[in-house]
Order: sequence, then C-alpha cells, then structure tokens
Amino acid sequence: MQAICHRCGLPTDEGLCQQCTLEKAKLVSYPDQVEVVICSVCGSRQAKARWQLPDSRSVEEQAHQAAVDALCLHKELAEPQIELSLRKVGATRYLANINIDGSFRGQSISEQCEIPVRIELMACDRCSRMAGKYFQSTVQLRGNAVRSMTSGEMGECKKTAQDMADSGYHGGDHLSFIQEMKEVKGGLDIILGSTQLGRRMARAFVERFGGKLLETAKLVGKKDSRNVYRSTLLVRFPRLKRGDIVSFRGSLFSVAGFDGKATLISSLREGRRSSMNEENSETVAILGNIADALAATVISKDDEVLEIMDPENYRAALAARPRDLQIEPGEEVKVVRTADGFIVL
Ligand SMILES: [Zn+2]
Ligand SMILES: [Zn+2]
Repeated sequence: MQAICHRCGLPTDEGLCQQCTLEKAKLVSYPDQVEVVICSVCGSRQAKARWQLPDSRSVEEQAHQAAVDALCLHKELAEPQIELSLRKVGATRYLANINIDGSFRGQSISEQCEIPVRIELMACDRCSRMAGKYFQSTVQLRGNAVRSMTSGEMGECKKTAQDMADSGYHGGDHLSFIQEMKEVKGGLDIILGSTQLGRRMARAFVERFGGKLLETAKLVGKKDSRNVYRSTLLVRFPRLKRGDIVSFRGSLFSVAGFDGKATLISSLREGRRSSMNEENSETVAILGNIADALAATVISKDDEVLEIMDPENYRAALAARPRDLQIEPGEEVKVVRTADGFIVL
C-alpha cells in the first residue's frame, strides 16, 4: 500500500515526502547577531569567555571567522560549501552575507542568510593588568660580598627572563609577562605578572648560575575574602662562576656547573669530573676564567715548559706544558693569563 505524506497529501515511501522533509528541516540555523570581542591593545579575541593568543589576522578576518563559527548546519547536510562576503556598515558593524550549497538526502540545496556582526573593542585581562602596573612577584638577582654580577650574567639573565615569560604566555598563562626589568645597585630586578613564573625563573637562574634562593611573601590585601600576597625571590649569586679556573687539591679545575650547594668542577688536563662543597667554593683560589682565553703562538718547547709569545705584548713568556699536549713550535695554544703567569688550556 502506498503511504501518503501527512503534510501535503502526495504519495511517499514513508513519513513526509522528500519536498516536505526538506522544507521542514532546518538546514542552517544562526544567531540574530554575532558579537566579536577584541582587545584593542594586543588584538587578542575573546572566545567562549577566554582570551585567545593574538595572531596576525585583521579585525575583518576575525569578523569573517566569527560569522562562520556561528553557523549551525544540519548534520545530514552533506558537502557544505560556505561562501561569505562581509560588508562594513558602521565603525564597528559588519553584515555577513552567506550562501551555503550542499546536498540533503540526495537533493542539492542552496540556502542564503545574513548575519549582523558587531565588533566590541576592550582591553583584555593581560593588557589591562600590564597597563595597571599589576604584579605578583619580583625576582631579585644580586652579586655577593666579593663580586657583583658581571655584564655577561646580566645580559644572559635578561634574555632568559624574556624567553621564559614569552613561552609561559604561549603556553597559555595570561599572567606570564614582565611588568618591568631594571638594573639596580648590586644587580637586576625582574617584576612579573605571576608568582608561578617568578618561582620557575628563580629556579632556572640558580640551576644556571648557582647560589642561593630566598623567597619571602608580603600580604598586600584581600580579594574575594582571600589574602593576596606578593613574593620576592632573591637569588644571591655565588662567588664562583662557570668557567672559573681554580687550583684545588693540587690540580687545576674549571667550574662546570652547580648542583644544590655543590660546585661541579672538571679538571683542566683530563676532564675528570669532581665537585667542591660550599666551604671550599668560598675559599678556593680563582686563577682566571676560560672565557678570557687567548691564542698564543708556541716559540719553543721542552718536556716541562712551553715558550710562547704573549698575545698582548708579543714578548716571550714561559708556561708549564701539560704532559699530554702534542704541540710543535709555530702552532697556537689557548692560554689564560693569571697573576702567576699563563695557564695552557
Ligand atoms: Zn509532502
Ligand atoms: Zn590584550
């Protein structure tokens, strides 16, 4: 028995006929208006109550994307092709003209719609906090009683701080920003949007440069009945730095790194690894630093001694010859000048 469409009365296989199904199905639905919230400072777009990372797209491209995102297509609409043209109708208003082609249960369809898009410009969380001088923590880098931070350490710390703040931000932490970085008497202050970032940064500096970390917190107020603190993370650099050449237990070593309270050292001759405790690190004689090495030409040699040309005043000078060093007159060696003459590396 042939069924009959209960909507139009024409013959059908079952239920509604194909024409009535198409007419009743809502193939495309969309809101009355689309709002696009964009940060006027950094260009970040708010989506689902979260600020996205800004990209290079223009406001127009963002409005275009928001209109496409707002469309809700019937799940049986196959191979939908969406064509959208955007028309500016006001300072912050656009009209999106949309044409959708596709097929529905084997029949090709074409639908048109128009969606007003409104742009709302405001400052995002991050930008408003940055403008408001907001901060949660300060990392203070300082030298010690016998030496201040070197300019090399200063430069490396600034770069590391910037890299860590950037990668935290790109990893999704909106408070990962540097409010201010300033050289102060005795070191560097890095003022940060988040305490988490401050702690990570301070630990990275201690791993790299050694020294001690001291964290203190100060109560600055209340927010939603919870206490709000600001932390200060003081990193005091140790006496020794990487590359320092020290004379320890009768051998020459260079400082290779730091591990907690221990200073890791490596012997100049054999590369033998060892470590020094805190007490020795405070007292061991520092002869020079590998970073200051110069190239010097060998004039002559015997089993014990090399005669080299002082690379700065071109006078002949003597240096102890490392036993296993194969070198001929006329060739160059790397030397470090110390108070007691040259050390051959
Ligand atoms: Zn029908
Ligand atoms: Zn912003």
